[in-house]
Amino acid sequence: MEFIFLCSRVNVLILLLTLCSPYKFIQSPMDFGPLNLLQTTHEASLDFGRIVFNTPSAVLKPQSKTDIALLLSSLSASSLSRVTVSARGAGHSIHGQAQALDGIVVEMESLPVEMEIHKREGKDGISFVDVSGGALWIEVLKESLKFGLAPRSWTDYLYLTVGGTLSNAGISGQTFKFGPQISNVLQLEIVIGQGELVTCSRTENSELFYSVLGGLGQFGIITKARIILQDAPEKVKWIRTFYDDFDTFTKDQELLVSMPDLVDYVEGFIVLNEQSLHSSSVGFPGNIGFTPDFGTREEPKVYYCLEFGVHDYQLDHMNIDEVVRGISRQMSYMQSQLYSVDVSYFDFLERVRMEEISLRRKGLWDVHHPWLNMFVPKSGIVEFKDLLMENISPDDFMGLILIYPLLRNKWDGNMSAVLPEVGSTDQVMYVVGVLQSANPDTCNHRCLHNLLQHQRSFAQTAHDQIGAKQYLGHQPSPLHWRSHFGRRWDQFARRKSQFDPNYILGPGQGIFTNLHSASSAL
Ligand code: FAD
Repeated sequence: MEFIFLCSRVNVLILLLTLCSPYKFIQSPMDFGPLNLLQTTHEASLDFGRIVFNTPSAVLKPQSKTDIALLLSSLSASSLSRVTVSARGAGHSIHGQAQALDGIVVEMESLPVEMEIHKREGKDGISFVDVSGGALWIEVLKESLKFGLAPRSWTDYLYLTVGGTLSNAGISGQTFKFGPQISNVLQLEIVIGQGELVTCSRTENSELFYSVLGGLGQFGIITKARIILQDAPEKVKWIRTFYDDFDTFTKDQELLVSMPDLVDYVEGFIVLNEQSLHSSSVGFPGNIGFTPDFGTREEPKVYYCLEFGVHDYQLDHMNIDEVVRGISRQMSYMQSQLYSVDVSYFDFLERVRMEEISLRRKGLWDVHHPWLNMFVPKSGIVEFKDLLMENISPDDFMGLILIYPLLRNKWDGNMSAVLPEVGSTDQVMYVVGVLQSANPDTCNHRCLHNLLQHQRSFAQTAHDQIGAKQYLGHQPSPLHWRSHFGRRWDQFARRKSQFDPNYILGPGQGIFTNLHSASSAL
């Protein structure tokens, strides 16, 4: 049962020890001063994946960044301590990445949200927002829209925290144009492993800045981020085109990402069956008249849907319909299979919320989510798609398979996010999101286990044969992590020993197992 130690000046850890906590390995009591810890909460061992349920020994609901600094400095001052700490944003990870088995989970959403918008007028002025690490992107959107502004780079779903997506990359249909969310950060405020509060940017404490962006929560806890804003459009023209041929589909996607002056958003997905056509259309308010023949179970036929968006704000002197006509004339979609709608910018960015509401109504939101996301080099995208199709049955697949191109030059190679190693000069790479759901009513524990094993071996093959890299992924051992990082490993491990020398942070990722030496763990 959950209960709060209300007494503010209590040595909470001594209390936890006394109350038969699992801190058997703590050799000396530590003074956490006035920290308000909980003895675990339901949420702290739960995430969107519903696959891993690691219970921490305590939860911190910080009321200020000082609480976080105090916790980490107390832990790192005790050299005998083996207590680990995970920041938990909105808990939308898949494999327990924000969990801390027998450690302490810091619930970032408890931090009071602070947001300050800076609107810079003039040609060279950059607008930005300073926002707390625990704020949700939907909150950033709502506040910045009051000033006619908005971040440039998004995720598809906005009920994720700023600190959570910046610890990964943060990608969506705008990434080809502005890079991932981590490429749109000007400054960060971090509590590093030793408990020190550090401000960093490309010019100030830059090594920490680059480490934390895409750093999987390993180097510090993001308490504040400065995010670039742009003028927000009012409306978006949202277009969908359909294909029965993969090459034509990807060629059109690549055509669109080569026109960043006209196109603002590019994504796409595989139309596997009737269900995938309809469920992916919940947010799309247009009437899709596409009635494809999906073949038979023995000989299934799949299709591809390309999505793109054009903002109205940049087209002061142009008619948006003419712009879309001009673009679509160069495309090669199936005859008459173009559908377009006008939506408000807010509704466009909120589109996945519509799907969430629909799935919640059907009881299909809080189910297992064995999702797999991979970055795939352009040279291997056909082979990857073929391998994927050999490994799924379109008839039974519940969920969505996203495929869309990204451009390497919009990513900063000094940040911690891992991309496929460069084998050619090609700028284009793809992200493929196999966003599968498994309803516990029809897929029991064994079924889920088999599904995950199958997925692991698929991801390994894609890595070994094609050079694909997992995004938001889970690796079964530190050795696999090392292979995931490839040439980037030494840098990652060195940064860990610099910013979190006691290996306190981010245990849920499973990157470092030995608390006192990254390399000896491997
Ligand atoms: P959590 O799951 O709580 O944490 C993730 C990791 O970040 C953990 O390691 C945690 O310790 C660390 N962390 C959290 N907060 C902080 C902090 N303040 N400082 C340091 N480390 C921290 N991703 C995309 O890129 N694009 C998408 O379009 C996209 N769509 C999604 C849609 C849905 C429905 C879901 C469930 C996920 C989606 N994601 C997408 C994935 C999402 O970006 C990641 O799972 C992200 O980590 C979620 O943020 P969170 O706040 O829930 O983080």
